[in-house]
Amino acid sequence: MKTLVYIDHFKGEVQPASWEALGLGKSLGSVSAIIFGSGIDAIAKSASEYGAAEVLVADDPALTDYRAEPYASTLSALASSQSPDLILFPTTARTRELAAMAAVDLNTGVLTDVTGLEANADAIVAIRPIYEGKLLEKTICSTKPVMVTIRTRAFPKPEADVSKSGTSTKVEVKSDALTTVEGYSASESAVNLGDAGVIVSGGRGVSNNPSLQPPAGMDEKQAELWRAQQGFALVTELASVLGGAVGASRAAVDAGYIPYSHQVGQTGKVVTPDLYIACGISGAIQHLVGMRNAKLVVAINKDSDAPIFKQARYGVVGDLFQIVPALTEAFRKKLGK
Ligand SMILES: Cc1cc2nc3c(=O)[nH]c(=O)nc-3n(C[C@H](O)[C@H](O)[C@H](O)COP(=O)(O)OP(=O)(O)OC[C@H]3O[C@@H](n4cnc5c(N)ncnc54)[C@H](O)[C@@H]3O)c2cc1C
Repeated sequence: MKTLVYIDHFKGEVQPASWEALGLGKSLGSVSAIIFGSGIDAIAKSASEYGAAEVLVADDPALTDYRAEPYASTLSALASSQSPDLILFPTTARTRELAAMAAVDLNTGVLTDVTGLEANADAIVAIRPIYEGKLLEKTICSTKPVMVTIRTRAFPKPEADVSKSGTSTKVEVKSDALTTVEGYSASESAVNLGDAGVIVSGGRGVSNNPSLQPPAGMDEKQAELWRAQQGFALVTELASVLGGAVGASRAAVDAGYIPYSHQVGQTGKVVTPDLYIACGISGAIQHLVGMRNAKLVVAINKDSDAPIFKQARYGVVGDLFQIVPALTEAFRKKLGK
């Protein structure tokens, strides 16, 4: 089986699931990494360290910024010359577009957001969740190359071996582009829940501490938001001690406690951290579909009948305003922070 793995990066910062894709490719046989951009020697070196036998590099000023036309044309030409059985990508906004455009050129199909892959003599079978994760679908693509984007954290990341160096091969660049990138500005609410190994999430319960007295002059809604701020400060502190990210339920987002980019669930992000701590979240099905694939779920809730406890390995029945600071303190001591 010949596999190419597209290493997705933004200004040299590699999307971690690229290495997970490389590890998956390696488990299937011979694997080459594909890297596009300019000044990308360091990424090529990392790709060898993560297990690529060969690194196919398109290093050209025309590829400095991701744009669909030159990237897809370069990828299509490369795939035509290499005739791989499989091309793997991490699932990102860029790769969804890139894989789709290249698949049109190559007259093949793309299987997106894949969480399992089986390769046998007859076919490559991709497994992916459908209907909000209620069913797992097995799909095959009858044309080659099979193009697959994998879900972040669905496959193990290989260990890097810094002593390894692979061969680097230059790739012909197709530089025709209809657009130029003029610049970037950082989004204020950039939250990367997809890559987080630990997520501590807050729900409507984070505003429920009647003993907290808001500053004088606040109306009821302002007081609720002020209390939610205090609650989310505790959630954020725990997340920070654990080196994790902050998530939220939709109720917390809709009430204005925290921006939408933190929302986990059916209409938010689907996450697969190693550890998910739900604070003051009831566990509605629309929230569960976003986090039920977490390896370990811990729930903190006042109500012992809250459905979240059915999903949790460990549950603490109690007031999050007492439990969360106590947990933070305990982890701080344990982790020496
Ligand atoms: C089409 C659709 C899409 C949706 N998409 C999403 C989605 O993507 N994500 C999502 O989360 N929801 C989604 N929802 C909403 C979902 O149905 C729930 O309304 C929402 O998840 C509830 O959020 P919550 O658990 O924070 O709030 P609640 O259900 O109000 O629960 C709050 C919990 O906090 C506990 N609590 C209160 N005070 C404390 C305290 N001091 N200490 C400890 N515990 C306390 C309570 O016991 C309760 O269990 C969607 C709904 C629909 C209809």
